[in-house]
Parts: sequence; C-alpha cells; structure tokens
Amino acid sequence: MAGEFDLIRRHFARATQHTDLGVGDDGALLRTRPGMQLVVSSDMLVSGTHFFPDAEPEALGWKTAAANISDMAAMAAEPRWITLALALPESNDKWVEAFANGFSACCTSFGVDWIGGDTTRGPLNLCATVFGEVPHGQAVVRSGARAGDELWISGTPGLAALGLQHLLGNIELPEGARTACLSALHRPQPRVALGLALRGVATAMLDVSDGLLGDLGHILERSNCGALIEDALLPLAPVLSASGDEAQARRALLSGGDDYELLFAAPLSQRQAVLDAAQRIGLPVTRIGAVTDQANVILLQGKDGARSPLAARGFDHFGS
Ligand code: ADP
Ligand code: MG
Repeated sequence: MAGEFDLIRRHFARATQHTDLGVGDDGALLRTRPGMQLVVSSDMLVSGTHFFPDAEPEALGWKTAAANISDMAAMAAEPRWITLALALPESNDKWVEAFANGFSACCTSFGVDWIGGDTTRGPLNLCATVFGEVPHGQAVVRSGARAGDELWISGTPGLAALGLQHLLGNIELPEGARTACLSALHRPQPRVALGLALRGVATAMLDVSDGLLGDLGHILERSNCGALIEDALLPLAPVLSASGDEAQARRALLSGGDDYELLFAAPLSQRQAVLDAAQRIGLPVTRIGAVTDQANVILLQGKDGARSPLAARGFDHFGS
C-alpha cells in the first residue's frame, strides 16, 4: 500500500508550465502577471452527492478539474493554477493513478498548472481550488445584466441530466444517445475559449451547474432583473432527439445541471459579436430570451405568444 508521500510523489507532482515553485514545499509560488486581477474559486465533489461511489476514477479526475476550471470560464478569466485537496478511504494506488491522470489531463488541456494540495484519509471527497487571471476590470460577473439585454446559452444543455437519469435507472436511453449523454455527464468541457471571447461583450455570465433556470435566477437576483424566455428559441432539438420524450427533454434542458455551459446576457448591439465569437470557437450558442425589468420574475413565452411564470428552481443542497 502506498503511503501519503508516495502517492504525492508518484501521482501528484506533475510538470508545470508557468509556476516558480509547485508541489513539494509548504506553499507554491505563483508568478502573477502585472495588470491582472487574480480570480479564485473552489468546488467540492462529495461521494454519494455529486458522483456514485464506484464512479470511474479517470473521469472523476477530469470532472473535478473541469468543474473548477469552468468557474474561471464563467468569470471570463484565464485559468492558470489549481490545487487539489482530497480525502481517500484507502490508499488504492491504481485508483489514485487513474484519478490523477484524469485530473491532470483536464488541467493540461486548459493550460492549468497543478501546483499543490492536501491528501488525507477519510470518506472520498475531492476539493479543488482554481486560480485564474483577468485583466483589471474585465471580469464578467453576475450582477451586470440590464433590462433589454439578450440571454444566451452555449452548447447543448440537458444531455448530462439525461445521462444521470439513465444511470439512476429512471430512463433508458437508446445506445447512440447514451454515449453522448454519459460523455456530457462524465467529461464536461469547460467553455474557457468562449468565456475569454465574451470579455467586453457579455454584461453578466455564469456556468450552469445546478440547472439553467436555477442558475438564471442567480443572475437575475444579482442584477435585480427578470427574464422572458421564448419557448420557440430553446435548444430543445438535441435533448429531444436523445430522449425521445418531450416533457423529459424539456425538464433536462431547463432544470438539469452538470453540463457546465455558459449562460450570459449581452446587449442587443453585441448580437453579431456573440455569434462571431461562437463561430470562431466552433461552439454553438443559442439566444433564448431577454432580460426584463421585473425583478426575479421568469416568464416563459409559449409558441402561441402566451406568457406564464416559471419557477427558478435549480438544485439546492439544503433546499426542502
Ligand atoms: P504540509 O505538511 O506542509 O501541509 P504536505 O505534506 O501536506 O505538506 O504536502 C507535501 C506537498 O505535497 C505540498 O507541496 C503539497 O502541496 C503537495 N500535495 C499534497 N497533496 C497533494 C495533492 N492532492 N495534489 C497536489 N499536491 C499535493
Ligand atoms: Mg508545511
């Protein structure tokens, strides 16, 4: 059985690209660039809450890094460094190696140096802290949306939620759709390039981890605004073709989490800039509605033009 320091030396001490001192000392030394603000965020994944205890370790490593890096994308920041604090029930070398490989692969894909962490024995728990940089004053925060802005979502949200429902045994996805949905669930792609391209374009932004409507509620609350979502604009087709059931597809799209797509507001005058950025990056974006001045009210406009209120309910760990 590998000891703590063995695990660190063998699996966690990876080469870095832009770090003065990484794993091995009491602290890491980061060379931040002049004119930049440091952006910091933590995300914890707990066994039984965020993943199944028998989850495949390589994918789990990827997802732990991806969930954190996604928060940098949502701030329009460049992810640069990450630390990992993990509690492990036992020192299983194979498991740790696969987990570390997945974590490291995601970091490398997004130019992030893995610079330290902590390793203890305990119920399986994965907590990373990511550090990014953004030119002074250019971060895109949640509070900047204004009435009249348009609302956009990236990618094909809802697939990860279908994947989860499949694993829970609540639905049976056909084989073709299953691969796409499970890959969305297990290997989310942080939208870093889009986040960076939206500097100076988006007025407010976040990454959807708890459901589109619930997370939209966070933007509205911080911006003191409301939203009008147009049913005809929603990117329902990909989820619908995966699930085959319209009500289920709609639920996955509006309330499913785990896709880590970017939800953002941008003025009408920036519509072309948004579309150009998306095209350049090769990631679809969909305009789903607009910001209104009715604080915290989300209305859904049906295809017949009728408007009905929607509850902004995302996942809440302490909700009833
Ligand atoms: P200390 O006792 O000073 O807190 P540790 O013995 O916990 O240091 O860790 C030794 C070194 O290994 C530190 O540089 C720490 O950042 C690194 N380290 C420990 N756990 C991890 C991990 N899970 N991922 C990356 N580096 C780690
Ligand atoms: Mg120390």
